[in-house]
Amino acid sequence: MRTDALQELAEALPEGALVVDPDVVEGYRRDRAMTAPAGMPLAVVRAGSTADVQATLRVASAHGIAVVPRGAGTGLSGGASALDGAITLSTERLRAITIDPAAMVAVVQPGLLNAEVKAAAGEHGLWYPPDPSSFEICSIGGNLATNAGGLCCVKYGVTTDYVLGLEVVLADGRAVRVGGRTVKDVAGYDLKRLFVGSEGTLGVITEATLRLRPLPAPVTTIVGTFDDVVAAGRAVTAVMAALRPAALELMDAAAVAAVEAVRPMGLEPGIGALLLAQVETAPEAALVEAAFGGAGATYVAASDDAEEGEMLMGARRMAIPCVERLGTVLIEDVGVPLPRIPELVASVAETAVRHDTAIPVIGHAGDGNLHPLVCFDAADPDATARAEAAFDEIMGTALALGGTVTGEHGVGSLKARHLRAQLGPDVLDLMRSVKAALDPAGILNPGKWL
Ligand SMILES: Cc1cc2nc3c(=O)[nH]c(=O)nc-3n(C[C@H](O)[C@H](O)[C@H](O)COP(=O)(O)OP(=O)(O)OC[C@H]3O[C@@H](n4cnc5c(N)ncnc54)[C@H](O)[C@@H]3O)c2cc1C
Repeated sequence: MRTDALQELAEALPEGALVVDPDVVEGYRRDRAMTAPAGMPLAVVRAGSTADVQATLRVASAHGIAVVPRGAGTGLSGGASALDGAITLSTERLRAITIDPAAMVAVVQPGLLNAEVKAAAGEHGLWYPPDPSSFEICSIGGNLATNAGGLCCVKYGVTTDYVLGLEVVLADGRAVRVGGRTVKDVAGYDLKRLFVGSEGTLGVITEATLRLRPLPAPVTTIVGTFDDVVAAGRAVTAVMAALRPAALELMDAAAVAAVEAVRPMGLEPGIGALLLAQVETAPEAALVEAAFGGAGATYVAASDDAEEGEMLMGARRMAIPCVERLGTVLIEDVGVPLPRIPELVASVAETAVRHDTAIPVIGHAGDGNLHPLVCFDAADPDATARAEAAFDEIMGTALALGGTVTGEHGVGSLKARHLRAQLGPDVLDLMRSVKAALDPAGILNPGKWL
């Protein structure tokens, strides 16, 4: 049957789209969640058109073969990691983009990198805001499928806030268009938002119409250092009660040290935590400085220098790869209501001690979305068990604080168990009904969440 399917795919797809060479297939097995299980796919399809995606799904449906959609493979939850005997469907060759400056929209295929969409919009004096730290290496399709967030999302919103319409190929190979090009549209259920964040479990996004904005005003960057993360957490709550900054990012001492080891910025070694805020007006800068001071900042400085601001934010964006140099990392993505941030960071510190595991903390603090980075030596079974227990415990803490197990990275395979704990049986049933309606044979990214 598999041989028949491969034969049908070879006939249905253009030359070069179907890849079965094991050395090449190997490169498509994992995303950036190195601890997530990864199978050996039957084949990789590098689709060059919506028609290729449709053909792949028709053949897969006919033969009951699972399909794992894949963008750039930078996901941190195992969402794009391969399944044994499945087809990994890569969008990397779907790279068309058109900008309509008058309508302020971009029509994009999913394989473009986020940075390429930003650059294309920038040529028309326009801006596509969502900015995951991985914006230079992740695809816009992956951003749509995970509803990616980022640094400026605290003020400008996340991926879904910029989606006007989508073209999606369903499990049976039909291509549908949901939403459109208008800013307001309440005709029927808002199906585009159902596909955004569905992590390849409901359909394959083959085109998106994205809303653009005028370029933002230049920013002032404010740095605040604190004795500990709990004080920094209090400062976050105070800032967010006073204004909506363009970014508000947290790094604790261990994360700062990890970045300093790679890119020295001259930050004091003794600090307990660092907050980086960006704002667009002088009165906002004064409010942030006051909020930092009121929460006990040990040092506060503001800079209007764009290069310096970008250097500091660049350092924050480098935090995950820098911490990854310390060992294997289980990356949390918990979110809590803003007033609960101090409790979350205090609890993470206790978890680190209880499980004798290093857990540097970074995050999009203004969104209440933190990434405790559970570091361990994967060659040591005891350390691995302690790290896994810490990983579970932090998600339990987030739920107990009224939060979520994932704010932006998605559930993938790493958080499926925790998703069940968060949603409960009735909502899970509802989600299973949606999945069954759109993918009755369960071929799209099966077994990842539900
Ligand atoms: C250093 C680093 C920093 C990061 N920082 C952030 C951050 O600040 N914010 C953030 O949100 N994320 C961040 N990420 C995570 C990651 O980059 C995002 O989740 C990104 O959106 C994934 O895009 P991708 O193209 O790599 O998708 P992939 O990893 O290839 O896929 C992700 C998921 O989307 C599905 N998928 C991909 N394309 C499609 C499609 N066209 N149709 C349907 N389903 C599809 C896949 O099946 C999978 O479930 C970071 C990652 C790294 C390595």
